[in-house]
Parts: sequence; C-alpha cells; structure tokens
Amino acid sequence: MEPVSSYRKVAEKPPRGARNRVRRHAERGRYDRTSVETILDSAFHGHLAFIEDGQPVAIPMLYVRDGEQLYLHGAPASRALKIVGSEVPLCFTVTLLDGLVLARAWFTHSVNYRSVAVFGVGRAVTGREEKLEAMRLLVDHIIPGRAEDSRWPSDKELRGTSIVAMSIDDASAKVRAGGPGDDEADYELPYWAGHLPLTMHAGAPIADARNLATVPSYVARLASNGEHSA
Ligand SMILES: Cc1cc2nc3c(=O)[nH]c(=O)nc-3n(C[C@H](O)[C@H](O)[C@H](O)COP(=O)(O)OP(=O)(O)OC[C@H]3O[C@@H](n4cnc5c(N)ncnc54)[C@H](O)[C@@H]3O)c2cc1C
Repeated sequence: MEPVSSYRKVAEKPPRGARNRVRRHAERGRYDRTSVETILDSAFHGHLAFIEDGQPVAIPMLYVRDGEQLYLHGAPASRALKIVGSEVPLCFTVTLLDGLVLARAWFTHSVNYRSVAVFGVGRAVTGREEKLEAMRLLVDHIIPGRAEDSRWPSDKELRGTSIVAMSIDDASAKVRAGGPGDDEADYELPYWAGHLPLTMHAGAPIADARNLATVPSYVARLASNGEHSA
C-alpha cells in the first residue's frame, strides 16, 4: 500500500518538534492544504535547498504543483537536478512578497508575505508521457494558455530536459499581513508608520522583431491586468 504522507493527512498543527511546525511567530503558521496550495499555485518560482557533500545549497527554480508533488525542470547537466532526482531530502520554499512594513523603530520594521516551505524527496521523471505532461503543466502555470499556443518539444529537446518530481511530504505556510506593531512608548514618536503594499506587475508586451503573430489574448490579458499571478 502506498505510504500516506503527513501532508496527505494534513490540516492539524504538526506535533511539537516536527520539521514543518512554525515555532517563531507560531500564530502566523498555517498547515491546511488550502492555505499551502493557494500560495504554491499563486507563485511560479522558489528556492530548492539540498545538501551536497555536507554543503547546504539553495537554487532558484521555476515549478508547478501537480496534486501532491512539485515538478521542477532543468538541463541534464544541472547539478541540482542530478542530485535531487536521487531520493535525497529536499526543501523547497516559495515567497510572495506583499508589502513593506514601516514601524517607528528599526526593530519593529517588517515585511508582509505569504510563504511556504515544502519538505520531500525527488524522483527523476523518465517516462516520455509524464515528462511531456510536466512540461505542459509548467508552461501553462507560468503563462496560462501558452502550451497550446507554442511548439511542443522535439525528441532531442525532451532528451535535453530533466524533470524532477518532488513529493510534498510535509508543508507549512506562514503569513504576515497588516501594519506595524510598535512598542507602546513609540507611538509618541513623530515618524511615519504604516505599510506599503507591493505587487508584481506585467508591463506592456514587447514583440520580437521576427514575430509573425499578433499579441495573443492571454498575453494581452496579463498585461492589462497588470498584476501577474499564476
Ligand atoms: C520575504 C521574507 C523575509 C523575511 N525576512 C526575515 C529576516 O530578515 N529575518 C528573520 O529572522 N526572518 C525573516 N523572515 C521570516 C523567516 O522566514 C522565518 O520564519 C524566521 O526567521 C524564523 O525562522 P526559524 O528557522 O527560527 O523558524 P522556525 O519557526 O523555527 O521554523 C520551523 C519550521 O517552520 C516553518 N517555517 C518557518 N518560517 C517559514 C516561512 N517563512 N514560511 C513557511 N514556513 C516557515 C518551516 O517548516 C520550518 O522548518 C522572512 C520571511 C519572508 C517570507
């Protein structure tokens, strides 16, 4: 029988000492699948962390979530993908930066964010169908509608792409929102305090010089909405 990961059972606060239990500002921790998956599905890049010969390494990467796993891709020569495809323990983090928090004191400045830490192991994806599906999901996650509107990979390109599926065995989300929490005595101070929301915006599309097509609707939509959210 397939082992049931604690992520699959999720929702309850993990036991004390669990790798995914938020200790610092525990009130900001979330463990339910909706919180975790909404953040994962709202971003498309994160940092993959692993240990190589005792040396911790963190590498930025694109990803897409497919059920209880994340798909990562890269060149077959990528050190990260060679290592992570071999069942070593991994951690993948994703952050959506939502704002700057300006407090009256240096100490109480902060940022607003929604972030997730995922723990799991990697599996090299070798089957042609799964590889193609992972690539399709990745393209459509980053630019919804793009997979159908661009060329599929050739066999050579497929061989030139490594795909790793990372299981979501445990996960935590951490969320900070709102303004600063200054010390009572500091409310007497004259400094401006509050928070400055931040969003990621798509600019106007810039056509390639050899373009044969007009701007597709899904690109125009991203540009007119401004905010890019996967
Ligand atoms: C954009 C951004 C900037 C930040 N800047 C700073 C900074 O400058 N200094 C600083 O000390 N902290 C910063 N934080 C908070 C930081 O991510 C940690 O939550 C905090 O440092 C506590 O770390 P810890 O290892 O003591 O956490 P612990 O609570 O001991 O971590 C235990 C477990 O909680 C979970 N967890 C912890 N933090 C997060 C998280 N952010 N998202 C999801 N799960 C989490 C993980 O599963 C982790 O294994 C920042 C967070 C974000 C998103």
